[in-house]
Amino acid sequence: MKKISILGSTGSIGTQTLDIVRINKDIKVVGLSANSNVDLLLKQIEEFEPELVCVFREDKACELKERLGSLKIGKYPEVVSGMEGLISCAVIPSAEMVVTAFVGMIGIRPTIEAIKSGKDIALANKETLVTAGHIIMPLAKENNVRILPVDSEHSAIFQCLNGESVNKIEKILLTASGGPFRGKTLADLKNVTLADALKHPNWSMGKKITIDSSTMVNKGLEVMEAGWLFGVELDDIQVVIQPKSIIHSMVQFKDGCVMAQLGLPDMRAPISYALYYPERRYIDGRSLDFWDLKSIEFDRPDPDTFKGLSLALRAGKEGGSMPTVFNAANEKAVSLFLNEKIGYLTITEIIEEMMDKIPVIKNPSLDEILETEKEVYAKIDESRGF
Ligand code: MN
Repeated sequence: MKKISILGSTGSIGTQTLDIVRINKDIKVVGLSANSNVDLLLKQIEEFEPELVCVFREDKACELKERLGSLKIGKYPEVVSGMEGLISCAVIPSAEMVVTAFVGMIGIRPTIEAIKSGKDIALANKETLVTAGHIIMPLAKENNVRILPVDSEHSAIFQCLNGESVNKIEKILLTASGGPFRGKTLADLKNVTLADALKHPNWSMGKKITIDSSTMVNKGLEVMEAGWLFGVELDDIQVVIQPKSIIHSMVQFKDGCVMAQLGLPDMRAPISYALYYPERRYIDGRSLDFWDLKSIEFDRPDPDTFKGLSLALRAGKEGGSMPTVFNAANEKAVSLFLNEKIGYLTITEIIEEMMDKIPVIKNPSLDEILETEKEVYAKIDESRGF
């Protein structure tokens, strides 16, 4: 039986990973971790009986320990907390695969440690590759570890490439829904509210990534993620707007042929593909009906209105620590927006300001990446008076 550890088990990707485990009944979950959602963690512990559980927040870990006694299970899991606890969950000896389902740069250290201990990675934590791809990818190769993409676009590209060598790629066609504000102008975006930005037309996702989709920061991060995963230049990745999210991405080869992967927007498909690769497993629910669909439309992105995309491409091309500056500024700005401390357009303003202010470090070490993150957070507080 395959054994996995899930980092971020109470979030959108984490709960859907557990759905796949529940349907198939042939994967054993040995590790679970979450930031603070003790209620849901308790239910997951009761159902999956892991060996080890990490609650990132120490106060919440204490609460979980106190409430464990109420569960009727054979053996209580060990409970750990903080970054050290998260790393224990990432390197747990019995797991052969780690699902990195958490959001943000917090994933860098646990992912690196999981790779060093030889675990395959089902990667949903794109921020880790964006900021530390130059460390992660060679490390994975050195340790003979597979990085299996969970992001729907990257899973699509991975599926299109099956059996093809990367040097036959002409370009990657990364599709984007365009988010809830597709077709809007900058003037329209001035008075966007939090509720407006949280309404994604096709995908049901966590809050941070939903905001990132609306600003197209998400697509920018995905361009960088694809660059690292598939070893292609950013200039060879073209973003194509496809509003219904039916085509999950495409690859154009040297002979002009294009392979595309299609399906209804359902994150369980890429999760299942990563968990069981190269096998395909049954997933219940509707499948694509071309008689109903009738047409698929395409458009080009609008980088002047959606500066999240143009700034990401600038960060990716400058390289070094610039993607970290871009990403950290976005993480902080989105959390300020989610707490209704700043307006919508201020998100990309903050990113641009930080990219202009903070000098780039070439080929940054892990410590330098984490230092840059802190520096960006401090500079935003300073310049915005928080
Ligand atoms: Mn995606």
